[in-house]
Amino acid sequence: VAEPTVLAVEGLHAGYDGLDVVHGIDLRVGAGEVVALLGANGAGKTTTLLAISGLVSARGVVRVGDTDVKGWATEKIARAGVAHVPENRELFGELTVAENLRLAARSREELARVLAIFPALAAISGRRASVLSGGEQQMLAIARGLAMAPRLLMIDEMSLGLAPLIVEQLLATLREVALASGCGVLLVEQHVHRALDVADRAYLLADGRVTAQGPAAAMRDEIGELTAGYLGDD
Ligand code: ATP
Repeated sequence: VAEPTVLAVEGLHAGYDGLDVVHGIDLRVGAGEVVALLGANGAGKTTTLLAISGLVSARGVVRVGDTDVKGWATEKIARAGVAHVPENRELFGELTVAENLRLAARSREELARVLAIFPALAAISGRRASVLSGGEQQMLAIARGLAMAPRLLMIDEMSLGLAPLIVEQLLATLREVALASGCGVLLVEQHVHRALDVADRAYLLADGRVTAQGPAAAMRDEIGELTAGYLGDD
């Protein structure tokens, strides 16, 4: 593969209370790549992201760039270049859009850069996060991740509760940002076809194992063969 690796996961096992739900998965994200992590409810997608971020205990290798970060504290993994947008977005509701971004931005330049990517946020920068629409909140959560100038941006169920048009706009923006900044994007998505429209490659998880992987176009065919309802698609 041509582009440098930003994330390499090898033989990852992870779980809760000593019980594994992720059973030895391998995956890779390159600089500027958008990679989709697909699978039915309970397949282990969220757990995989939590393990990469050091939020659940894990075994195996989690390399960010050239460094194995497994076992590191979450804050240290974040400083190594991993931005994680969790399912619940975890914004500071009482703080304004600008304040939420300023807490994450490494510099004024980064703040200006993300506001240029999301001009809609610049227009509401004085508004409290708690009063934003779902789409605006998701935009803010993603912008906050990007403000850390990450090497890897992981987004869990970005489309949850959002209108299809908003989802498409956000995905298109992510695609552009990845190409322009060289940031790798790892996307956990329920909307399989929409995710595959923007992704370069995808992995399909079932019961904590990778059961299929490949370029997005090939995965679209592969997943078409599976029952669409099983994956909870568009
Ligand atoms: P979803 O789309 O529902 O989030 P997922 O693919 O992200 O699905 P995970 O959330 O990673 O799946 O869940 C994988 C398995 O781990 C499931 O069987 C789930 O019940 C279990 N699990 C998730 N969170 C916990 C937890 N905090 N404690 C114990 N088991 C958990």
